[in-house]
Amino acid sequence: MTKPALTLYLAAPRGFCAGVDRAIQIVEMALGKWGSPVYVRHEIVHNAHVVNGLRAKGAVFVEELDECPDDRPVIFSAHGVPKAVPAEAARREMLFVDATCPLVSKVHIEAERHHANGLQMIMIGHAGHPETVGTMGQLPEGEVLLVETVEDVARVEVRDPEKLAFVTQTTLSVDDTAGIVAALKARFPAIVGPHKEDICYATTNRQEAVKAMAPHCDAMLVVGAPNSSNSKRLVEVGRRAGCPYAQLVQRAADIDWRALDGIGSVGITAGASAPEELVDEVIEAFRARYEVTVELVETAKENVNFKVPRVLREPAGV
Ligand code: SF4
Repeated sequence: MTKPALTLYLAAPRGFCAGVDRAIQIVEMALGKWGSPVYVRHEIVHNAHVVNGLRAKGAVFVEELDECPDDRPVIFSAHGVPKAVPAEAARREMLFVDATCPLVSKVHIEAERHHANGLQMIMIGHAGHPETVGTMGQLPEGEVLLVETVEDVARVEVRDPEKLAFVTQTTLSVDDTAGIVAALKARFPAIVGPHKEDICYATTNRQEAVKAMAPHCDAMLVVGAPNSSNSKRLVEVGRRAGCPYAQLVQRAADIDWRALDGIGSVGITAGASAPEELVDEVIEAFRARYEVTVELVETAKENVNFKVPRVLREPAGV
């Protein structure tokens, strides 16, 4: 039986960003340097495949520091941690390595700088997301107010509208955030903040590629984890950009083939924490069912690299 033809649009850039790459490298190098177990507070990046792979090599994932012994190294995830966490690790004289993405650390520094200048902070982010918890935890309780929507901006109660600054989560929807920033500036004209927002290059680039690809696709699949903020945003961006069916899949086994019945084109991308091997697996699943022609939709080239912390670049015993 001949297979039906399918055009498979492949977004570029997609998948791993420099912060995720560095965080994984940190865990692997820590295991190489200090042996197992190495403890990791919170999923190092939001991807079960990556986490399971590191677990098999000897990483132990925990939610809180009190689950770690004092005498084994602990790594903090790419999303960042509240200040109290490294402070507690230092108090316990633990060996810890911070895998917070440098672009998240930059937001932490911004928040601290504004606070030092006497400004109250507003954070645009998702309640409960580890990055939001980490950024809000850079300042004393109550100093950072969270807004998630334009409606929240109308409701938020501030100390002094003349003394305000804002920061954002790095993995938000660029378009939604622009609306929230505009609402903040309309209600609090004196508010200070970054030039646009703090959304990182990887989030922006992956959303741009999806916008370019979505109008050509009958369906779109985003390879990513259900707890990955930037992956979920890619699904939303795809739908809004005109793709009638956009879904998040963790891997090929999650594809709902019945929902794809009759399609002639599909777009594929991956969130910043999804490894390329899972994208390959999805492409192979399409090749098994269709006569596939792959077309790359490239909207940017990335060459960002972040160094791992010095402690891991030094030989063991240092
Ligand atoms: S998505 Fe952006 S902020 Fe998050 S780890 Fe990647 S580069 Fe860093």
